[in-house]
Order: sequence, then C-alpha cells, then structure tokens
Amino acid sequence: MRFNISDSFAQAVEESIQTNISLASYNTFRFAYCAEYFAIANTLESLKALLQWANHFDLPVTMIGGGSNLLITADIPGLVIINRLLGMHAKDRGGNVVTLTVAAGENWHHVVDYAVNKGWFGIENLALIPGTVGAAPVQNIGAYGVEIKDVLARVQVINTASGDVHWINALDCGFAYRDSHFKHQWKDTRLITAVELSLKKKGSLTLSYGGLSNILKPEPTLKEVFELVCRVRDEKLPDPKKLANAGSFFKNPIVSEAQHVDLKKRFPTMVSFPFEGNFKLAAGWLIDQAGWKGKQYQGVGVYDKQALVLVNYSDDTAQSLLALETQIQASVFDLYGVLLEREPVRLPSEAVVEDVLI
Ligand SMILES: Cc1cc2nc3c(=O)[nH]c(=O)nc-3n(C[C@H](O)[C@H](O)[C@H](O)COP(=O)(O)OP(=O)(O)OC[C@H]3O[C@@H](n4cnc5c(N)ncnc54)[C@H](O)[C@@H]3O)c2cc1C
Repeated sequence: MRFNISDSFAQAVEESIQTNISLASYNTFRFAYCAEYFAIANTLESLKALLQWANHFDLPVTMIGGGSNLLITADIPGLVIINRLLGMHAKDRGGNVVTLTVAAGENWHHVVDYAVNKGWFGIENLALIPGTVGAAPVQNIGAYGVEIKDVLARVQVINTASGDVHWINALDCGFAYRDSHFKHQWKDTRLITAVELSLKKKGSLTLSYGGLSNILKPEPTLKEVFELVCRVRDEKLPDPKKLANAGSFFKNPIVSEAQHVDLKKRFPTMVSFPFEGNFKLAAGWLIDQAGWKGKQYQGVGVYDKQALVLVNYSDDTAQSLLALETQIQASVFDLYGVLLEREPVRLPSEAVVEDVLI
C-alpha cells in the first residue's frame, strides 16, 4: 500500500461517507437505486483516502461522473464515489500545439466551450456531450466524425489497489469505437483522474460527417462549427434535465461488406457508412424503420425525434426499460438479422456483484 495519508485527513474523509444514498440525481435516467456507501471526491487526496477506506473493508468501488452513460438496474454494493476533481491548465508547446490538462471531474462541454473561445481546434465537434472529462475516454466519446482519441495525448490514472497515480499514453488505452481498456481489463482497477488534450492553434475542421457541411456556409469558422453542433444537438436530442435519458441507447452496429450488400438490396434507403473495412449501420434508422419511434411502454419509451434514444418518463426502476430494450433488439434482429448492443454501462457491474456474493 502506498496511499501515504495522514490519520486525521483519513478520518475526516471517512466521516464524509454516507450510507444508503439514492442515486436518482446522479444518473440521467433518474432511476432511484441506492449506493450502499456514498462519497464525493473533490481532490486527489480525498479520492486516495476513499480508496484506502474501501480497501480496508474489502469493498468494491464504483466511480460515477455525470451519470449520463449509465443504466443502473439495482442498488450498488460497496462504495460509490462521485468524481468532482476540478482544475484545468493550458501549456503552449510552441509551434501549433497547445496542451490542455484537465482534472477528471470537470464538465466536458465546459472544456469544449473554453477551447473554442481560446481559438483552439480539435474538440469543437464534441460540444454538448454531457458528463465529465474523466468518463470521456472510457467509451472514447465521439460525434460528427471526431473521437476523443483523436486529440488525447495522455490519461492520468489512479490504481485503486495501491493508490499509485501515473500517466498512460493514449496509444496504450485500447481505444476503438465507443470502447477502451477502461471498459474491460482496467474496469474498476484504474480510475481516470486527469486527461491531457493536444489541441491546435491552427487546425482543419471536420465537416464530412452527419451532414454538417450541407448546413454550414462555405469555409466556416471554428466558432460557427461549434455553434452549429450545439444547435443540431439541441434540436435532435432530449435535454436530460427535462426528459430523463442517457443519449444513444444502442451502438451503431458494424457489419461485413457482404452483409451490407445484402441489406442494401433489401433496404435501399438504409443509412450506413464505410468503417474500417466494414460498414457501420445507423442504429436509429433500423429502430425507426422497425416502427419504434415515439412508442411508449410502461413509463418509458423511444424518443419521438430520435429513435436511438430511450427515455424515462416516470419510472423509478429500470425493469420497463430493460423489457423495452429486449423487445427492440428482438424486432431489429428479426427484420435485419443484426444484433443491437447497448451503449450505456450497466451498474452494478457483474464483477462488483460477484465480489459481494463470494
Ligand atoms: C443527451 C445525451 C447525449 C449524448 N451524446 C453522446 C455523444 O454524442 N457521443 C458519446 O460518445 N456519448 C454521448 N452520450 C453519453 C455520455 O454523455 C458520455 O458517455 C459521457 O462521456 C459520460 O460521462 P459521465 O461523466 O456522465 O459518465 P458516467 O455515466 O458517470 O460513467 C460512465 C462509465 O464510466 C465510468 N467512469 C466514470 N468516470 C470515470 C473515471 N474518472 N475513471 C474511470 N471510469 C469512470 C463509470 O463507472 C461508468 O462505467 C450522451 C448522453 C446523453 C444523456
């Protein structure tokens, strides 16, 4: 153990831990399951002390940022830590590059807004994605042809067993479409405490994806792209503060070229994009064409402006949503032979439940 925390500080942190706290306001689906133990980490030192405490009692740890990519389906055993590590620091590297080091609890959109106002290129297409900076690499957030991996230099992590803090090069994080090692071999063992973004003072804009160039005037500015992304997202996606949701509920499925040819013959208007030698299908189109858009089911439903988003009108538990998910997956599979994979992370994770059962 290398936590190195003074007894008085550890005691103060321990006193801040609460029991049996509802997580309704800590997940954007607003499901009202409880955390067995609950604490907020405002500093790296308090995060270390919380991990040390959980290790001492052999409790599993779950970190939550903004709760905008979660599907909580039961009470969470062990310690739930809400990440509120704050701070941001920019360094001009000379030439065209600025590095922006940001603590993991900062709001992602505020960072995008800050960078755009400074005139720094690289993350403008990722505007208005809810949640924290620390969760952004977990699923390698992406929108309008840009992913965080495109601008990420390094990720700072804390080892949950030892308390060691170190930097990992972005190339070693296993980034892929909505995926990284943080969802697999590093899940619950390495928590992200900061990220280092590499931005450009003079850069090119990515306008090819999602029809941005069709709406923009020729040669748009950085600020115009940012504002358009915000406007399009505002029109298309429900604001979780007004209507509970976790954004896209399913990933866009990836199919082989042969399967794509076959599907295109049967469904000529199907929306798809070439993707790393295969094809990515627009899951929203598949669900929409299967007749689900706007459908409601026992307190939950499919958003009427974007079929990829499932919404919670009134439920405290996730049962109806899980049933709706199964029905949508079955109907899309029957129609197209394609299995839709869920995007939000289900909590408690199986590992945490198994830990407690042993
Ligand atoms: C309206 C809406 C629109 C969205 N649009 C997009 C989009 O365009 N593109 C996109 O990619 N996503 C989108 N999302 C999903 C979501 O905003 C992102 O995945 C975001 O990065 C989640 O951040 P969060 O802080 O809310 O994470 P949380 O939901 O709190 O956590 C998500 C996962 O990351 C883990 N985690 C959280 N913080 C850390 C940390 N510091 N270290 C290690 N693990 C951690 C959690 O344990 C959990 O497994 C959208 C969501 C909503 C509600």
